Amino acid sequence: MLRFYNTLTQQLEEFRPARDNTVRMYTCGPTVYDFAHIGNFRTFTFVDLLRRWLRASGFLLDHVMNITDVDDKIIRNAAAKHQSLKDYTAVYTQAFLDDCAVLRLESPERLVPATAHIDDMVSAIERLTAGGHTYPSEGSVYFRIATFPEYGKLSHNDFSGNLAGARVDVDEYEKADARDFALWKAPKEGETSWDTSIGPGRPGWHIECSVMAIKYLGATLDIHVGGVDLIFPHHENEIAQSESLTGQPFSRFWLHSEFLMVEGQKMSKSLGNYYTLRDVLQRGYAPETIRYLLASVPHRKTLNFTFDGLKSAATAIDRLRNFKLRLETDALPDGANEKLLERLQVARTAFVEAMDDDLNTAEALAAIFEYVRDANSAMDAGEFRAGNVGSALHLLDRFDEVFKVLEPSSAAGEIPAEEVEKLIEERNAAKKARNFGRADQIREELLAKGIILEDTKAGVRWKRK
Ligand SMILES: [Zn+2]
Repeated sequence: MLRFYNTLTQQLEEFRPARDNTVRMYTCGPTVYDFAHIGNFRTFTFVDLLRRWLRASGFLLDHVMNITDVDDKIIRNAAAKHQSLKDYTAVYTQAFLDDCAVLRLESPERLVPATAHIDDMVSAIERLTAGGHTYPSEGSVYFRIATFPEYGKLSHNDFSGNLAGARVDVDEYEKADARDFALWKAPKEGETSWDTSIGPGRPGWHIECSVMAIKYLGATLDIHVGGVDLIFPHHENEIAQSESLTGQPFSRFWLHSEFLMVEGQKMSKSLGNYYTLRDVLQRGYAPETIRYLLASVPHRKTLNFTFDGLKSAATAIDRLRNFKLRLETDALPDGANEKLLERLQVARTAFVEAMDDDLNTAEALAAIFEYVRDANSAMDAGEFRAGNVGSALHLLDRFDEVFKVLEPSSAAGEIPAEEVEKLIEERNAAKKARNFGRADQIREELLAKGIILEDTKAGVRWKRK
């Protein structure tokens, strides 16, 4: 039984989509004014695990993610660089997509830029105004929280007595204490803006998510995902707008991933521990190592990102790869070891139950590694038989369909796997022809490219240094 912790109800609840077999899911995407940092990618990696596990559970996906390509920082930075918003954000949008691909994050079914939906947002604001939920102020339009009595139900904050129509015109939300928020912002002198039926300006951040989610997925989503930092005010505001617009619950499930710390501290530029994905890759860590570390801590726990942790992640991946290589190349006695088949069944059940339990990745990984340890010992003792290979490989596939770390990334300048295989074949042929000079030459050539060859009874194995 698949269960998720729902921030809205503060309970673990059984999950299945409301309509047919398709999960309608929305994720708050990046604001494309800079390269995304590893804290951002913690959330996006969680979303990727969620996508993959939902699919492994037999569901189809309709997943929408927005790209926030207009906001105060974007306008400010683009102006400073004398670039159009479009040119400025195109660079960081592409960088984000490239980073996602490097981390093996699947693309959502729909990736939607805010600036392509201005008309939809204007029309939503007009409907909110018609319903008495807004008031104008100096060319901007604000949402009046007092018209939505359920405000606070997601963050479980009690705002009663705090809702007098005050507003503060702030874009840096962490500084806000007045709750009314801008749906539409009047342009300041010289700023990019859109001329619309509600006046010149640009949309606020919150309305963007509500409008695009409802447009593509309908009034009620199955799952809305984001980082915990978005619960208040962003998601609370999304609920207020959306439910005022449709009269329906906005999302059945709200899933939030916790913060990421670096070496035990909050990540910040002033502490010098602020890392984009690119910073970490530049230090020579493989993308799948970063992915593994981000995936290994269940999303409701704070993740402490450390460079030691990355090294352990690399070791863990190596163990799995080496085990897979043994399965594929070891000469094993015929028959099947029944006890090991049972052992595998236990591991498979434990893996599935852990993932079904609110994506408990730590438990799921433990199930896999305990099995690998036992299977390796059995191999060493000559008790692992050919008839145990198929189910063991199947378990690894099941694991990797979600965790996606077994295939090595070929880094820039690295020799691709197919080329290694070709050279190994050539070396085999050379040895057969007793051309040992050429065979040794190929071994040296590969070693210089970081490839280690190992001659075994079952043939040649290779791995990257
Ligand atoms: Zn959002």
